[in-house]
This record gives sequence, C-alpha cells and structure tokens, in this order.
Amino acid sequence: MILITGGAGYIGSHVARDLLDRGYEVAILDNLSTGHLDAVDKRATFIFGDMGDLHLLDQVFKRLPIHAVMHFSANCLVGESVKLPLKYYENNVGKSINLLNKMIEYNIQHLIFSSTCATYGIPTESLLTEDLPTDPINPYGHSKRMIEMILKDLFQVYGLNFVILRYFNVGGAHVSGEIGEDHNPETHLIPNVLKHLQGKTKYIEIYGDNYPTPDGTCIRDYIHVSDLSNAHIFALEYLGRNQHCTEIFNLGSEAGYSVLEVVKASEEIANKQALIRYQERRPGDPPILVASSDKAKKLLGWTPKLKLEQIIQSAWNWHQKHPDGFNK
Ligand code: UDP
Repeated sequence: MILITGGAGYIGSHVARDLLDRGYEVAILDNLSTGHLDAVDKRATFIFGDMGDLHLLDQVFKRLPIHAVMHFSANCLVGESVKLPLKYYENNVGKSINLLNKMIEYNIQHLIFSSTCATYGIPTESLLTEDLPTDPINPYGHSKRMIEMILKDLFQVYGLNFVILRYFNVGGAHVSGEIGEDHNPETHLIPNVLKHLQGKTKYIEIYGDNYPTPDGTCIRDYIHVSDLSNAHIFALEYLGRNQHCTEIFNLGSEAGYSVLEVVKASEEIANKQALIRYQERRPGDPPILVASSDKAKKLLGWTPKLKLEQIIQSAWNWHQKHPDGFNK
C-alpha cells in the first residue's frame, strides 16, 4: 500500500487516481487545509489529519501495510513564502521531519518526495540538469532543498531509499474533467488567466515586463499534471527495482513559454481576449526556468506527452465544468 500525503490536493489527487487505476492500494493522509474532500478517490483509504501529527502517524503505520510514501503535503506558493517564511519552514520542513522520523521508526524504506525547480534559484544554464548547483531565492525553494539534504543524510544512516522529483510548472486537469486545480486564493498563472477569460476577474495581472527575456515576461516550463503523475508511477517502479536509490529527477518538458505566450495560447483556446494589467515583479520569481528531462527519459523511461495547448485545453475543460471548483 502506498501512503500519499496531500492526496486531496491538486497533484496528489491525480497521482492517487492513476495509482488506483493501475491496481495499487492507496491510503491518503490530508488535513484538507488546501485540499478537497471531493478530490479524494473513493477507492482510497482516507485519513483526515496532519502529516506532522506523530500520534496519528503511529496509528497509520501500525495499522496499514504501507511500503512506500509519496510525500506531496506542503505549502507551495513562492510569493506567499517570501511574506510568511516561517509558515513554510514549519510546514514543509518541520512536519516533514516528523513524517521521516516515523518512516524510520516503522522501517518504511521507500519515499518519493515532491520537490521543485525553485531549488535552482536563478539558473546560469538555459536547460536545467539535476547536477547544477542549487541556490534557492525564496523560502519555498529553501524549504524543499532542506528536505532534499536531510534525505541524503537519512540514506547514509538508515538506508532510506528515495526519489526526489523536482517539478517545473504543473498545469492541466484529469482527462475525465472530474478533478483539477482549485486553490483559494488562486495564484498560479494558467488558472488565473482562465478565470479571467471566464469573466471572473476584470483583468489578468502580469508580474513584471522587464525581465531579460524576449518579451520581458518570465519564462516557465509547463507540464501536464497527468504526465507528472505518470512520472511518479515510473519513479515508484524505479525505486522498487533499485536498492540504494538517491536519485533526483527534473520533471518538465524542455520547452519554455513566457507569461505572455501562456496568455495568448489561453485566448485562442477560450476564443476570448484577455485584458492585461502589468504589475511590479513578484518577489522570489526567477526570470527563466526550463528543465532538461534527459535524466528522467534515460533512467525512468519517462517522456512528457502533452504540450502547452493540451495543458490549457484540459484546464479550460475543468474550469468550464466546475466554474466554482470543487464547490460545484
Ligand atoms: N504570474 C503572473 N500572473 C499571475 C500568476 C502568475 O504574471 O496571475 C507569473 C509569475 O510571476 C511567474 C509565472 O507567471 O512568472 C508562473 O507563476 P506561477 O505562480 O503559475 O508558478 P511558479 O513559477 O511561481 O511556480
């Protein structure tokens, strides 16, 4: 059985569903602080609670035959992390340490950890490979990098096997249209553009028009949540095949799109025109982040299949079907 922390969240719920579809047994631990009960797959064992709750973790690991953990639970907003760093260190680092403590106590040897391209900081290369130095420029990136470092130490002492997945910009929704992205407040680009195009906001704010990029807006590498989810299953299988695993994989699509390009692509899909309002740069935003996915291709046999257009189209379907997210 796989324990998914944060399985009621955007990415965790997609991975849970895909694992269940492939016949895995899944337990989901989520305190529903940002996740949604309606996103929890009915086939999973759901445990309501906090991944930092030592007593609850005792119960989970005593009662359920967990052999691997996928650890998604985290706060993950760059801008918020700059304003509220302690929230990020407390939740992303402190509570993860509790989880790791209990994994070691109960001899659970396999972990897949959700990390981020924010660990790289301001890159010097155009395509980011996993061996590049890390130097985060925001507390969110620091908090994820700290756990990455802790995992290396735990491998040395306790032999904990892990795969670290550094996500680039995740978007899109499940092909069924039943689960998708629903944050409150929403800060991510694609859902914000689509909400604007649905008429919910007067304009789309673009943070910064003077970055060192061709059109002055930030460039990101967008990856479909279902491609990302598949990578988790490949990573789980890889962990099963490889003892002594401490690999890091970037998960992106090797294609960079500027904020303006995302807005244009969204306008075409929604067949509407966006009203843009430029704002100051958002603190903590690096100008360009694009992944090399070479390593994931070679070692995991994983390639992302869906392009920006399909990411936005599936997100648009989700927003059309669920204009108020999981609140129907
Ligand atoms: N962004 C923007 N307007 C928005 C949301 C995001 O201009 O309403 C920009 C943001 O500054 C960044 C890019 O879009 O350059 C992607 O941001 P997002 O929050 O989606 O993901 P992040 O890169 O922070 O993980």
